[in-house]
Amino acid sequence: LPVIAIVGRPNVGKSALVNRILGRREAVVEDTPGVTRDRVSYKGEWLDRRFTLVDTGGWEPDARGIDASVAAQAEVAIDLSDVVLFVVDAMVGATATDEHVVRLLRKTKKPVFLVGNKVDDARQEPEAAALWNLGLGEPYPVSALHGRGVADLLDEVFKVLPQVSAVAKEEFGGPRRVAILGRPNVGKSSLLNKAAGEERVVVNELAGTTRDPVDEQIELGGRIWRFVDTAGIRRRVHLQQGADFYASLRTQAALEKAEVAVVLLDVSQPISEQDVRIIDLVLESGRALVLAYNKWDLLDDDRRRYLEREIEQDLHHVAWAPRVNISAKTGRHLEKLVPALELALDSWDTRIPTGKFNAFLTELTQEHPHPVRGGKQPRILFGTQAATRPPTFVLFTTGFLDPGYRRFIQRRLREIYGFEGSPIVLNMRVRE
Ligand code: GDP
Repeated sequence: LPVIAIVGRPNVGKSALVNRILGRREAVVEDTPGVTRDRVSYKGEWLDRRFTLVDTGGWEPDARGIDASVAAQAEVAIDLSDVVLFVVDAMVGATATDEHVVRLLRKTKKPVFLVGNKVDDARQEPEAAALWNLGLGEPYPVSALHGRGVADLLDEVFKVLPQVSAVAKEEFGGPRRVAILGRPNVGKSSLLNKAAGEERVVVNELAGTTRDPVDEQIELGGRIWRFVDTAGIRRRVHLQQGADFYASLRTQAALEKAEVAVVLLDVSQPISEQDVRIIDLVLESGRALVLAYNKWDLLDDDRRRYLEREIEQDLHHVAWAPRVNISAKTGRHLEKLVPALELALDSWDTRIPTGKFNAFLTELTQEHPHPVRGGKQPRILFGTQAATRPPTFVLFTTGFLDPGYRRFIQRRLREIYGFEGSPIVLNMRVRE
């Protein structure tokens, strides 16, 4: 999907604009284990056009950290979106921070819309018009709170927004897209450099696109892969505050563009909450997953025992992800990364024919019927795989299935069909 990013200082009304653009939409409830609920990217729809909206303002810094953090947010937005909406408080006018962001935005070839917010009635429009002098073209006066001017803005946005994201265009036949993720210092750039350095780096000339070069194509194992958002790995942002939010934003935005994620873990350190959180973001995104245990050269026997215990405890819910034990520094087992990626992507692409899937369900429910709850026993009437990437199943049932029973179905699916490296989504339609 094409990506629209919203950038701006704190309190200019970004969240209000996000809510206004998304409208009231019903939440899609998906049964994906380990999913966290705080997010920065949303799926939206406007007059039948679907898009992803990225709100870069989820973390609001205090005055000291403002310039750095807004700049960092703008940078992510520029890298990873197709269109940027830059929101300014028209009643306050452009501040020094706004001008700082403008300098960054001027460097991109991507369309930028200057949004003058808080123009609640027509008499205030001249205030918005004054934003002309920011040099970003015509300001769009809107009131995110009341909805005024938002439709006009979106009409213009959708005139220039591509139907699909510039990256997603290559979905068919193009190189497969990989995101390298992990907390700071796990070895992301080391891995990238090792991969790019020892193999041939394919020059990133993409005909007909005006994207900033944030991706790199690298030949590995005889085929070309596209590593997305490598600019985010190579270019380091030092933030005093909000670093976690920034990292999370970058992770989520990279996941938008990727098909498979390699999450790096540093085996010389205990597995942390941040590691688990990154993995949960991958699960939420529905992308395929490979776990790469890096810095294997630093592992001694003691640490190794702890590591296996930690994995069992903290990463049990992703035991289905292919695992590689590597050293980005020495190059140990880097060649195992490609088969792991291929396995995960194959699973991600897998489609089980409806007949087979129903035979699977029949056998499963005969052997292990759903427990009786309050005198009732929900039955599965029919099931079908509604989508791939990731495999998404819909079950038509006579009642709500227990979470435990749904996990059981997922486990069985994995036992029989593998699905190594891919999340499985199981949705239900209850028929009364
Ligand atoms: P990033 O923040 O995830 O991009 O991490 P870097 O690639 O910058 O690596 C952080 C530090 O870990 C650097 O000092 C690297 O040299 C070191 N490092 C990365 N991979 C390995 C590894 O496999 N073994 C060892 N011993 N050090 C590593």
